[in-house]
Amino acid sequence: MTLLRVLSVTSEIYPLIKTGGLADVAGALPAALADCGIAVKTLVPGYPAILAAMPAAETLLEHGSFFGGPARLLSGTHQGLELLVLDAPHLFARPGNPYLGPDGKDWPDNAVRFAALSRMAADIGLGAIAPLVPDIVHAHDWQAALAPVFLHYHWGPRPGTVMTVHNLAYQGLFPYETLAAVGLPPASFTVHGLEYYGQVGYLKGGLQFADRITTVSPTYALEIQTEDGGMGLAGLLRERSAVLSGILNGIDTSVWNPAADPDIAMRYSSDALSQRAANKVALQRRFGLDSKPDAPLLGVISRLSPQKGLDLLLANLDKVLSDGMQLALLGSGDRDIQDGYLAAARLHPGRIGVVIGYDEALAHLIQAGSDMLVVPSRFEPCGLTQLCALRYGAVPIVAGVGGLADTVVDAGQIDAGQIEDGATGFKFAPVTADGLAGALRRAVAAFHDKVAWHRLQRNGMATDVSWRNRATRYAELYHDILATRRIATHHVATS
Ligand code: ADP
Repeated sequence: MTLLRVLSVTSEIYPLIKTGGLADVAGALPAALADCGIAVKTLVPGYPAILAAMPAAETLLEHGSFFGGPARLLSGTHQGLELLVLDAPHLFARPGNPYLGPDGKDWPDNAVRFAALSRMAADIGLGAIAPLVPDIVHAHDWQAALAPVFLHYHWGPRPGTVMTVHNLAYQGLFPYETLAAVGLPPASFTVHGLEYYGQVGYLKGGLQFADRITTVSPTYALEIQTEDGGMGLAGLLRERSAVLSGILNGIDTSVWNPAADPDIAMRYSSDALSQRAANKVALQRRFGLDSKPDAPLLGVISRLSPQKGLDLLLANLDKVLSDGMQLALLGSGDRDIQDGYLAAARLHPGRIGVVIGYDEALAHLIQAGSDMLVVPSRFEPCGLTQLCALRYGAVPIVAGVGGLADTVVDAGQIDAGQIEDGATGFKFAPVTADGLAGALRRAVAAFHDKVAWHRLQRNGMATDVSWRNRATRYAELYHDILATRRIATHHVATS
């Protein structure tokens, strides 16, 4: 079988630049797809962190002026990833967060920065570098969403296109003038094009024109077609439901492997769960918590945005404390939520520990040392932290939405002395403070029944959270697009 070639287009990629789950997916999927006979090259912006990691990159293309300044397309590899890098210093030579300036606000030229990334993807798709013509251009999130749009407006043969939504809340909305500035035709500014309540919607364009749309869990694929979950795009998504599907994310099980994790105090497997205790001790020490092996220890690793529902946990702190639980929270974001947790930690030292920031190694220790991982999101396209928690034997307590609903099997009413077969955690709905309180109550009851608890942990650790089967779904999707396009071309040629 001939190798199918995919150009993946993303604004983040682990381990080089990451603000969230998108980077994890973009970094792990290529290796999993290689096992399915799919060769992936990934186009990324030339941020300083990326250029520094590729000192031996080769120049494939040079433009004297590309979206307002000189640009090059570089090619190189990093830890097995085959990268194409858009080196355009006027757009990307900015350290730190890929989207925000030092004032914490979006860079004012984000519309141009990510249109340039998408334009380069479309150019590669159309053969700008002769030996590298992909069969499929796969765009991730709004930052890459103009790639299918530019390809749609190209007259002549083009590769197949996939638009993957990692989070519909971020749509890339810009003023009308953007259209001309980035080279989109005026005809694209309609309800059936990029127009979104008077603005230009990048993600809307990608959703409108890609051959296939995917999102990162089956439940989220349904939720985004409802008025409640559709963030203004439900109608479009319902219209395109025949080409919309949900494919669950996996995690990189070599990066997230408790039996070989360099960032934890003691490595362990599901046959030696008692060794987790050393990680709990290390975690309690790191967060200034009382050294109590029997206190149920809740972990949180999260962006602190309203989406993540951590205000609901804050509203439950009395319960957490009265039930003898401890809390270790790592995260950053919304100032009010941060301040709320910092104040609680000051009031209850030894019981509540908070680290504000982003710390990959500490995230591993939390997974290995906490008894339960709490993810009370109001909506969650897939969620990765609960997948890591399953793998690490930290029992997830999650809101029953999106990918959280799809990946955690609820334990039922533990108070009745039984846990459901195959159960891996605790889910609650509706997503309210009371709902979370109920799940915490059930989790603590189970924690004190060691037989039931170990069964929950082992079930979680036996769950397949790897990319293997999920990558197969992407491979099938790519083949399906090409087969459909071949049939369409055949009809045109013979009619
Ligand atoms: P989202 O992409 O919405 O932020 P996901 O659960 O899909 O949420 O992915 C989040 C990823 O970022 C996970 O890999 C998680 O471990 C990581 N992460 C989130 N916040 C932090 C943090 N403060 N420190 C370290 N890792 C974090």
